[in-house]
Amino acid sequence: MLDEGLTDEASLPHSLRRRRETTAGSGTFEVIQTSALWDPRRTAFLVCDMWDRHWCAGASRRVDELAPAMNEVLRAARARGVLIIHAPSGTMPFYEGTPQRKRAQEAPNSPAPEDIRSWRYLDPTREPPLPIDDSDGGCDDEPPCPSFPAWTSQHPALKISAEDAVSDDGAEIHNLLQHRSIENVVVMGVHEHVRSGPSVLHSPPRWARQEHGAHARYDG
Ligand SMILES: [Zn+2]
Repeated sequence: MLDEGLTDEASLPHSLRRRRETTAGSGTFEVIQTSALWDPRRTAFLVCDMWDRHWCAGASRRVDELAPAMNEVLRAARARGVLIIHAPSGTMPFYEGTPQRKRAQEAPNSPAPEDIRSWRYLDPTREPPLPIDDSDGGCDDEPPCPSFPAWTSQHPALKISAEDAVSDDGAEIHNLLQHRSIENVVVMGVHEHVRSGPSVLHSPPRWARQEHGAHARYDG
């Protein structure tokens, strides 16, 4: 929904791409591309699990490479009024007490129609199988990397501005989105296809307004 008077340039012109199974059960998919305009004030970018360090060396390299480019995207979106939510899950103590963390914690409560706080696994009744085997946590190194608590915060190349928010809590993020009447959410991150973190970061819940939903993937 665009406010009158918003120019095309100011309304985040972009293309959306999705895949549709040609006939149910065929396993053959076609690519459908459409163009869209979004009101930046009704749009949020959700930065998922772009940690400072990962136990997987390959994952760390991918984040190091992507973070500076992603930061430029966030900077441009922020300048147009897009809400940026940083969600480096498991590192909230690092941000405790900051205005960006409080912004998420203090967003007016808006009850979600289903539980969005607990871990949510892939739902085969409404989601296709992942294109990879994720039983190894996504590691593709040889020999496999040992898992250990590696991350402490978000990658430093991703700047957190005064007007941004920080949260890894599905309910808090839901409150933020509802309070600002956000209609479009772009999920960004290297690991988000595997490490879904809080369930609001997983495939958007059924109740989410998905008519314009984009799921931006930057898989390594
Ligand atoms: Zn690895």
